[in-house]
Amino acid sequence: MFRISAEKLNDLFDRIASKQTLYIPVDREDKAAEYKKYESGMTLSSALNTVRSAKDFFFPQTENLAEFRLSGKTIEVKDIRSEHEDFVIFGVRACDARSFGILDSVFLSEPVDTFYKNRRDHGTIVTMACTRPEETCFCTTFGINPTMPGGDVSVFPDGTGYSFLANTEKGKEFMAEISDMLEEGNPAQLAKVQENTRNILKRLPLANLKTDSFGGERLMKHFSSEKWAELSESCIGCGTCTFVCPTCQCYDIRDFDTGNGIKRFRCWDSCMYSDFTKMAHGNSRNSQLERFRQRFMHKLVYHPSNHEGEFGCVGCGRCLSKCPISMNIVKVMKALEDK
Ligand code: SF4
Ligand code: SF4
Repeated sequence: MFRISAEKLNDLFDRIASKQTLYIPVDREDKAAEYKKYESGMTLSSALNTVRSAKDFFFPQTENLAEFRLSGKTIEVKDIRSEHEDFVIFGVRACDARSFGILDSVFLSEPVDTFYKNRRDHGTIVTMACTRPEETCFCTTFGINPTMPGGDVSVFPDGTGYSFLANTEKGKEFMAEISDMLEEGNPAQLAKVQENTRNILKRLPLANLKTDSFGGERLMKHFSSEKWAELSESCIGCGTCTFVCPTCQCYDIRDFDTGNGIKRFRCWDSCMYSDFTKMAHGNSRNSQLERFRQRFMHKLVYHPSNHEGEFGCVGCGRCLSKCPISMNIVKVMKALEDK
């Protein structure tokens, strides 16, 4: 394990950014954090997490997929794919790091989404251990350890500096590039910080939330629950919960006439929207109850059923703080759990 003092962190960012594009979380004017392309002198945010998750780097909100040109009765199809440049995302929290595994299980299963894979192959994920988890956090419910955040390289802040640990081959290559800037780490100091974080985690209000009542075998019990009516009653179908969620992966594909040809693009969509399931014959989910139920059944029942028990939520807490009617997955879990 190797370490760098806090005052040298920006020198390290300058070094990384001289070799690859680097993204770090920074504070906006309203104090909320967002990822930005690093430019010399930028300050790493001290916020626990970004408003939008890191999934944008691999699954952007909009992207062009292909172009078509019409000439008489001939259609020319242009494949606009190109190799993505190498990039580093610094400061990803353990919950968001786990979300990449969930997205992988969707986008990297056959047929592989080559747009997503291209970005995954070129991205290096440098995670940041949490030292001040908040009241909306419940990653431990899904077996995530925020003191060992994973990714290609894990970074552990200790108050006066940051320790680095490589977890993958890509992470070892990354560390080799910066090794001359690092000094020997202090495992005892780090263990103290981790112990302190574990003590905070035990006292969080959602520390005892369990997944025991969910999973594939509970499909019909939960699907037919009468509780959905009350739970979904106030949902305005704004889709905020899906857009801030690091694991939501629904998208729409559309063609746009540029006047000079056709562009095919995809953009995030939301199962909370009434036209999400609209097809030529009509809509298979006509009520907000059905749409609301779909989102939570997917995360708590369908996804684990299809992916060896892995839930489609990482307990990041974003939907807890962002839903305008204060509805969220925790309320759903508490309402549906076995009493
Ligand atoms: S953020 Fe809240 S109101 Fe908006 S769609 Fe999600 S649950 Fe419904
Ligand atoms: S459902 Fe909510 S808590 Fe779970 S990963 Fe999505 S935004 Fe985070």
